[in-house]
Amino acid sequence: MSSSPIVPGSNLTPLALVKHLENKVLVGGQLIIPASKKTFPVHNPATMEVIGQAAHAQKEDVDSAVEVARKAQREWRHMDASSRGRLITQCAELLDQYQDELARLITLETGKALRTESQVEAKVFANTFRFYGGIALEMKGETIPFSDSMLSITIREPLGVVGAIIPWNVPLLLMSLKVAPALVAGNTVVVKSAEEAPFAVLRAAEIMNTILPPGVLNILSGDGPITGEALVKHPSISKVTFTGSVETGKLIYKNSSEKLIPVTLELGGKSPMIVCEDVDVEKAIKGAMASMRFTRQGQSCTAASRIFVHELIFDHFLEGLKAKLNELKMGDPMDPTTDIGAVISPEQHLKILNYIEMGKKEPGATAHICSDLPKDSKLSKGLFVQPVIFTGLPNSHQVNQEEIFGPVTALIPWRDFDQVIEQANDSTYGLAATLWTNNLTRALKGVHQLEAGFVQVNQNIVVQPGLSYGGVKSSGLGKEASLESMLEHFTHKKTIIFNMD
Ligand code: ADP
Repeated sequence: MSSSPIVPGSNLTPLALVKHLENKVLVGGQLIIPASKKTFPVHNPATMEVIGQAAHAQKEDVDSAVEVARKAQREWRHMDASSRGRLITQCAELLDQYQDELARLITLETGKALRTESQVEAKVFANTFRFYGGIALEMKGETIPFSDSMLSITIREPLGVVGAIIPWNVPLLLMSLKVAPALVAGNTVVVKSAEEAPFAVLRAAEIMNTILPPGVLNILSGDGPITGEALVKHPSISKVTFTGSVETGKLIYKNSSEKLIPVTLELGGKSPMIVCEDVDVEKAIKGAMASMRFTRQGQSCTAASRIFVHELIFDHFLEGLKAKLNELKMGDPMDPTTDIGAVISPEQHLKILNYIEMGKKEPGATAHICSDLPKDSKLSKGLFVQPVIFTGLPNSHQVNQEEIFGPVTALIPWRDFDQVIEQANDSTYGLAATLWTNNLTRALKGVHQLEAGFVQVNQNIVVQPGLSYGGVKSSGLGKEASLESMLEHFTHKKTIIFNMD
């Protein structure tokens, strides 16, 4: 086991923690400088200052991490499932104590607002480990009737070393959805963090490594083409689990197919929200605020970026949504009074602004621009974007068909329920959908007809441990967050027959 990490409550600033983590990866239970010694800079999106250098793991560094994980798996897989579960639960209890410092680290590297986003993420992160620690004994097999003299059973076995590739928008939560079930099922893991957000993930794993046996959970940082590809292609990686863009997901699928290994892909979305005329409009507006993840600058795969509002309540809904958005304060993400922080990177900033310009150029379209930009001069280089609600943009418009991953949504009026369902489904994506109505017939019809992996009626909650989460169409392959997803995606079923004759 590694030595104790710096204790919680030691009042280390997030920048001091970054100094502690700089240039390092976590392999074999220890924070180490990788052999290649390559690094890359990481920025605070709210100021664009460099906060530190992260290790850029090269192929040789990936090779050593996977080898360590492979060796550690030999013992980990044979530990009683209940003991593995207990260790994962202990990780959750310990992570609870570090929630505040992890939240600050997430905010420093992602620019997400501390109170509305990072603190919530740090809490759900620990809870995901708690959930999976509690279901370790559910790795059950079956007895199959065969003949009186034979006993035919199945057992669940781990797959081996899992390569987990994660993005920057909710780095801790998305890591936990992969790491927790993989470990509980008896696999060991090598995580490749996102270039933009390597530190919170590394710190969290350092904390967990005071409990886990060395080599069970390893963390590398680096880019996609070098570090990510080396991990996916490594011969000892027996499963890849990925969250990110469709384009990268396809590449990972292709590279994994060369080795014939299973893959889970959680990709993008262009999620519809349908609001019927019979609802409490104020409640639906609150739902849209939550679902569009405006406090996270819309950087969410499930963001309700197409809101279909019945024409009878359209103006009321638009005015109400604008008013609610204008109440949000955009500013220093570390300030607890701030509601909305910055977007992640200059590339993403430019991409969002280009989509907004594209929408504005559409004849008949209006961009309702909300919330003031921060006035604080220390944030003058920060990557802030004013949230935009488009009206007058048809569903078929590029802005309404492509994932922007920014604070941009469109309100589209409708009159006929069957037609609005067709429009909602007119997308290459199928991650999430929400339907707001008090009409039971419409609700049932909607939940059956909407093409999405996650459909909600009269609420817009996000991933919940226990409920399967994952998309259809271009939104991905496979599910996460549940018992079934652990069994389906992190184990295989071995069939065994005893002949007692
Ligand atoms: P985003 O646009 O959100 O950065 P990406 O899909 O490009 O989405 O990145 C998500 C994660 O996938 C990141 O950790 C990134 O480094 C990784 N990645 C990018 N390209 C590859 C690749 N070719 N192979 C493996 N991982 C990759």
